[in-house]
Amino acid sequence: MLATYECVLARLGIPTAKGKTSGEIMNQDAPLLQEKPTKLKSGRSDISRTVRRPAGVEACETEPVKVAELPFALDALEPLISREAMHFHYDKHFKGYVNKLNALVVGSAYAELPLEDIVRQAAWKRKRPMLVNASQTWNHAFFWQCLQPGGVMEPDVILSEAIRRTFGSYADFEAKFVEKGVAHVGSGWLWLACHPERGLIITATEDAIPVWLASGRVPLLVCDLWEHAYYLDWRHDRAGWLKGFLAQAANWNFAGEQLASVLDRREPWTYCR
Ligand code: MN
Repeated sequence: MLATYECVLARLGIPTAKGKTSGEIMNQDAPLLQEKPTKLKSGRSDISRTVRRPAGVEACETEPVKVAELPFALDALEPLISREAMHFHYDKHFKGYVNKLNALVVGSAYAELPLEDIVRQAAWKRKRPMLVNASQTWNHAFFWQCLQPGGVMEPDVILSEAIRRTFGSYADFEAKFVEKGVAHVGSGWLWLACHPERGLIITATEDAIPVWLASGRVPLLVCDLWEHAYYLDWRHDRAGWLKGFLAQAANWNFAGEQLASVLDRREPWTYCR
C-alpha cells in the first residue's frame, strides 16, 4: 500500500518518504495573472466585440450565467453559519454577483462562454467589473460545494497522506490554514490547492481572484475570507470562523474528488452550464 502512495504522491511532486521538497512550498506566493489565457476552442479572436443579432431574431437569454443552486438548506450549517447569514450570503451577495455579471455579458460574445473562460478573458483584457463578478460567482459556487452539513468527515487516505507529507500532520495543516487566513489583509479567499507537478499549497488570493487563474493549480477546498461570510455569526473572529469551517463543515469528500481529477487528468469541478 505504501508503494502505491509513493507512486501517486510522487506524481504530484509531494515530498516522498525520503524527504524531497515540493516546489509549491518553497514558493507560496507566486504572483498571479502572468500568463495569457489558453486560446478558446472556438478560436474567436475579438471576444470584446458585441455580437449583432439579426433583425427579427429573439433576444438571447437575459441570464446567460445560471444561478448555481445551494446544495443544502439555508439553516443546514447552523451553528457555524446561521440561517440569516446564509440567506444574506446566498440570496443577496451571491445572486447579486450573478445578476451583475449577466448585466455585463448579456448580448455579447462573453455570454456564449463557460464561466471559467469569462474569468480568464476578463482578467486578460483587464475588465475589472466583469472579472470581479465572474470570479465571485465561480468562487461562491465552488465554496457551496466545499461545505458539508451534518457531521465531520476526514480526508481520504491519499489526501490524508498528501497533507501529512506536505504540512507534517493534519493538526499542522489546520494551524497553517488558520494562520494563513488570519494573516491575509482584507477580503479574499483561502484555498487548499494542488498543482499537478508541485503538490499541495495553502494560499490566500486577493479579493475575487480564483486560485486557478493563470497558476495551473486545481482548488481542493476554499473558505470565504470576505467579512460578509462570517461577520453576522463570528463578528471579528476570523480565526474562529476558519477553525469552525474545518471542524464542522469542510467537505473532504469533495476535496478528494478534486484531487482524484488531478491524478486522473480529468477536468475538475466546473460551474454549472
Ligand atoms: Mn462570500
